[in-house]
Amino acid sequence: RELVSADADGEERQIEAALRPKRLAEFIGQARVREQLSLVLESALRRQRPPDHVLMSGSPGLGKTTLAMIIAAELGAPLRITSGPALERAGDLAAILSTLADGEVLFIDEIHRMARPAEEMLYMAMEDFRVDIVVGKGPGATAIPLDIAPFTLVGATTRAGLLPAPLRDRFGFTAHMDFYETGELELVLRRSAALLGVDLPDDAGNEIARRSRGTPRIANRLLRRVRDYADVRAGGVVDREVAASALDLYEVDGEGLDRLDRAVLGALLRKFGGGPVGLSTLAVSVGEEPETVEVVAEPFLVRQGLIARTPRGRVATAAAWTHLGMTPPPDAFG
Ligand code: ATP
Repeated sequence: RELVSADADGEERQIEAALRPKRLAEFIGQARVREQLSLVLESALRRQRPPDHVLMSGSPGLGKTTLAMIIAAELGAPLRITSGPALERAGDLAAILSTLADGEVLFIDEIHRMARPAEEMLYMAMEDFRVDIVVGKGPGATAIPLDIAPFTLVGATTRAGLLPAPLRDRFGFTAHMDFYETGELELVLRRSAALLGVDLPDDAGNEIARRSRGTPRIANRLLRRVRDYADVRAGGVVDREVAASALDLYEVDGEGLDRLDRAVLGALLRKFGGGPVGLSTLAVSVGEEPETVEVVAEPFLVRQGLIARTPRGRVATAAAWTHLGMTPPPDAFG
């Protein structure tokens, strides 16, 4: 696993659970989403009804699962967690829906990867709190309607654009999660350092925050690597220099670009003269799936102003050439 990939593996999941803010007031950054969500939750609590279904969209590691847990905690409701890929058949979803408690929060991660039949069942469940259980096959099949408890669906997706419109329309509220500012990540790091018992001076926190790809999961991971480095090579003392040396060692560059980011950028410049080049061509040239490049690398590179999406394909900006220490061809920005 890449150090700066935003996905978490099993062991990391456990550490993350310990670092997760439990209430909305503890959740750092995403000010707009927090305010929107607190209104939705508070009014639902006053009306004593489950709130509208909530869709969260944004890159991996920005806190979607954390927010889903917070929603349940703020409502004082139980939480059920599943994911799109786990819902292959309508029956998988029916088994969950039919056993939900009144007011339960159902979190479906990667909701854009749900199978079609499950998706269609979900439409009706979201709207009418009802599902049709199909019994039998072929012409003799019958649908038995079944009432389910009123619940709140919280869906998370890295690709809101892939959701079919009928599904998207059934969410009362969409939270768009953005990359975090450096200052916000400094706060995330300060909180995590305290929980992990690491003494983190502000300037070291800033160094890690700047290199965390705007992503709390990556910030927390880099903090642990810096701590390791400090333990083994610096007598347990973390300062800015130690942080910088540790991150250099793990190939996270000064702007937080990881190996995949640099590979994509490098290919765009070296093989395609800065573009424009299509996403799949670019992905093939770095040996990755187009989806990985599009979901994992590109959003951050775009937000850093290193590449731009144009109707003709991906294009490198002047900053990209500078970042890799290369000179653009004379006509590049003519
Ligand atoms: P994925 O979709 O890849 O599972 P995610 O968007 O659901 O990612 P989370 O699992 O919620 O991300 O968050 C990853 C880690 O980052 C968690 O350990 C959590 O502690 C931390 N984190 C996320 N957002 C915040 C925040 N706003 N404040 C503090 N910590 C945060």
